[in-house]
Amino acid sequence: MGKVTGFMEYARIEEGYRSVKERIKHYREFVIGLDDTQAKTQGARCMDCGTPFCNNGCPLGNVVPDFNDLVYRGDWQGAWKVLSSTNNFPEFTGRICPAPCEAACVLGISRQPVGIKSIEHAIIDRAWAQGWVTPQPPLRKTGKRVAVIGSGPAGMAAAQQLARAGHDVTLFEKNDRPGGLLRYGIPDFKLEKLHIDQRIAQMQAEGVTLRTGVRIGDLPKKGPGSLINDFSSETLTPAQVLSDFDAVLLTGGAEQSRDLAVPGRDLEGIHFAMEWLPQQNRVNAGDKLKHAISAAGKHVVVIGGGDTGSDCVGTSNRHGAKSVTQFEVLPMPLEQEDKPLTWPYWPIKLRTSSSHEEGAAREFAISTQAFIGQKGKVKALRTVQVAFKNGKPAEVPGTEKEWPADLVLLAMGFTNPAATLLDAFGVEKDARGNAKASTGEADGYATSASKVFAAGDMRRGQSLVVWAIREGRQAARAVDAFLMGASNLPG
Ligand SMILES: Cc1cc2nc3c(=O)[nH]c(=O)nc-3n(C[C@H](O)[C@H](O)[C@H](O)COP(=O)(O)OP(=O)(O)OC[C@H]3O[C@@H](n4cnc5c(N)ncnc54)[C@H](O)[C@@H]3O)c2cc1C
Ligand code: SF4
Repeated sequence: MGKVTGFMEYARIEEGYRSVKERIKHYREFVIGLDDTQAKTQGARCMDCGTPFCNNGCPLGNVVPDFNDLVYRGDWQGAWKVLSSTNNFPEFTGRICPAPCEAACVLGISRQPVGIKSIEHAIIDRAWAQGWVTPQPPLRKTGKRVAVIGSGPAGMAAAQQLARAGHDVTLFEKNDRPGGLLRYGIPDFKLEKLHIDQRIAQMQAEGVTLRTGVRIGDLPKKGPGSLINDFSSETLTPAQVLSDFDAVLLTGGAEQSRDLAVPGRDLEGIHFAMEWLPQQNRVNAGDKLKHAISAAGKHVVVIGGGDTGSDCVGTSNRHGAKSVTQFEVLPMPLEQEDKPLTWPYWPIKLRTSSSHEEGAAREFAISTQAFIGQKGKVKALRTVQVAFKNGKPAEVPGTEKEWPADLVLLAMGFTNPAATLLDAFGVEKDARGNAKASTGEADGYATSASKVFAAGDMRRGQSLVVWAIREGRQAARAVDAFLMGASNLPG
C-alpha cells in the first residue's frame, strides 16, 4: 500500500486542460497530465483495498492497487510492467476511457475516487518517453496463419497477442490507415494519431502484417447509415481468406449508424456524425478533401447526447460554427449520482465533457419532429419536449419549437455491424444483428462458421475502447487454443 494515511491527507488532483480560448484554435490534445509529484500523491491516496473493486470495475482487470503503489514509491518502470500485463494500449485508455474503475473505487463512496486514469496516463506516457515500450517478438513461430479483419482496438489487441504467441498474423483494414474508430471517428484533440502509429510500428516489428485498403466481402448495399467509411482499393472474398488462413477473427466494428426517419430527412445539410468526424481526422492527417462539409458560420444542431455527439460539438466549435446546440431525448440526469444506490456500478449522471465546456447549448427531453428546408437545404428543425412515463417518451402538447439549423449531425449511436461481412462468412447473428458468439472459456468467441471468430463491437454491439481491447485479448486466447489445443495467453 502507498501511504497508509494518504487517502485522509490528500485530495484528488484532476488533470488540467489548456484554456478554451487556446485549444479551440487547433485539433491537438490539450490535457495537461499529472507531474511526478502529483502522480505520487494520487498514488498515495490508494487504500490497497482487501477487495479492490477498481480491478473488478475495469473490463481489462487492470491491477490498479499495484501500479498505484509503485507510482507512489517512484518505481515507474515496475508500474508500467504491471499496467502492460493486462492492457495492450494504455495510451488509448489513459486518454479516452470513461474509467469505470474510478466509478467502482472504494474511496469514491465517501470521498473523491483515486484518479486511476490520470495515473495510467502518466505511466504510459513516461514508458514511451523512456523507450521502455519495445517490440516483443515471439521466441518460436507456430507456422499457423491467422487473419484479423478490422484494425480497431479489438483487432489490434488480438493481432498483437496472436503474433506474440508465434502465429503469422495478417491484419486487414478496408480504410487507408489502421486504427478503426480511434483513427476515423474519435477526434485528434482527444487522441492524436501518433499513438496508433507507434503501436502499429511495434506490432509490425513483432511480426504482424498490415494490409490496409483491403475489404473482405462485398460493399454493403447503399442505404441510410449503411456504410460511410470505406477507402478500399482491393476486395478479397471470404473463400480466399478461409483458404489462406487457419483461423479468421472478425473485428469489423458496429458501423450501421442509427437514422432519424422524420419528414425532411433527405434535405441537404443533414449528415451522420460518421460522415463528418472522419473528414476532420483526414484533414488533420494532411489529406486534401474535395467535398469537405464545414460547420463554419453555421447554426449546428447535434442530435444525440453521447460521446459521438460531444465529439461533434468539439469539432463544430473548432470549425467556427455560429452556434452549437445538442439535443438529447432523455431527461437531464442528476449532476451527482446517489452513491449508495449506484456504487460500484457505472452511474447515470450529467456528464459535461471538455467539448461541452468549449461552448454548446444542451437540450434534454427533446425530440425532433421534422427538418424544415429552403431550396432543398435544411434551414430549421421542429422539436417537441417529451415526458417519460413507464420508460416511454410521450410528446408534451404545446411545447413545439423551431430551431435554426444549417448543419444537422445525427449522433444517435450505431445499431449493428454492416451486415455484409457477417453474411459473407455465413455467421449467425443475434437478435440485434451482431455476430453471435459467446464469451465462455470453452467455446469463447467462436461463431457458427467453422474456424471463424468474432470480437469487439462486431460481437457485443457499440461499446467502448476498453471493452474492445478486452475482447481482442480474450478472442486471441480462444483462437490460440483452437489452433494449438491450449493457450498460455492471458484471457
Ligand atoms: C465518434 C466516436 C467517439 C467515441 N469515443 C469514445 C471514447 O471517448 N471512449 C471510448 O472508450 N470509446 C469511444 N467510442 C467507441 C469506440 O471507439 C468503439 O467502441 C471501439 O473503437 C470499437 O472497437 P472495434 O475494434 O470493435 O471496432 P472499430 O474501432 O469500429 O474498428 C473496426 C474496423 O474494421 C474495419 N472493417 C469493417 N468491415 C471490414 C471489412 N469488410 N474488411 C476490412 N475491414 C473492415 C473498419 O473499417 C474499422 O476500421 C467512440 C465511438 C465513436 C464513433
Ligand atoms: S478501489 Fe480505489 S482505493 Fe481501493 S484499491 Fe482500488 S484504487 Fe485503491
